[in-house]
Order: sequence, then structure tokens, then C-alpha cells
Amino acid sequence: MVQILYNEKNQFLNPLKQNNSHIYHLAKALNNKYHINSVVVFVQNNANNIDVSNVINLCDLKKYLSTYDDGTYYSYDEIDYIYDEIKNLDVKIKNRIHVNNIQKQQQLIRDGICPRCGAKLVERNGKNGKFIGCSNYPNCKFTKSI
Ligand SMILES: [Zn+2]
Repeated sequence: MVQILYNEKNQFLNPLKQNNSHIYHLAKALNNKYHINSVVVFVQNNANNIDVSNVINLCDLKKYLSTYDDGTYYSYDEIDYIYDEIKNLDVKIKNRIHVNNIQKQQQLIRDGICPRCGAKLVERNGKNGKFIGCSNYPNCKFTKSI
């Protein structure tokens, strides 16, 4: 991947574009109240041939952070606020993934496919009445009430 990055300028721009997208969404999550400084860090310290101001090597990160100063200072309350907002964002994303998974599972069941193993679902008769079960029983014990 590194060689591709050096040879193809357009390929190299992708991580920067991706980071810009992250910055955009992060700023939006913080109601665009804060300026967010974007920096791309190469963990394998191979960013030497890349002459872009916000691309640095991991070995330079500490120095970069300790000398970075755009004149902005935040109070502890503001830092707590930013921290909480980012933490809430994480919860929101996890909830969205969870909802997506449930929706996918429900679609599979509607299509008659076991969401656990991919086998066909069949209607079965149990002592408590009819239910949907996996045709792969007893290897798969997925059931759903009707
Ligand atoms: Zn199954």
C-alpha cells in the first residue's frame, strides 16, 4: 500500500479525503462550535516523501502536539463537553449499527432464511403451537414465534 501511495498521487489523497470527511462529521457532532485541526499520522514513519503540511510521521506526533498552538484554549468545562459529545456519538453509532443488524435479521426472516446459519426457515408444531424454526435443527436452534 505504501508503494501505491508514493506512485499514485490520487491514491495518496484518499486518506486525506477520508480524514476530511471524519473532521467534517466530528465538527458537525460538536455543532460546528469548534475548530478541529486535521492531522494524518503515518504509524510506520514513512511519510518523509510526502510534502503535505498536515501529514506527519508517528515519531513526530509528540513534538507536533507539544508545539501546536493556534491560540485556542478551552476551559475544563468545554473539554468535558467535547469529551461527552464524542462519547455520545460513539453510543449513537453503536445504536445505529445495532438497529441496522436487527433490520437485516428481520429481512432475512421475512425471506424465509435463518439469520443465524443461512438455512431455510420452516414452520413447526410445538407443544405451545406453531412457530418458525430452522431447517438445520438440531445443529441450529434458531426459533421465532409466529
Ligand atoms: Zn439456522
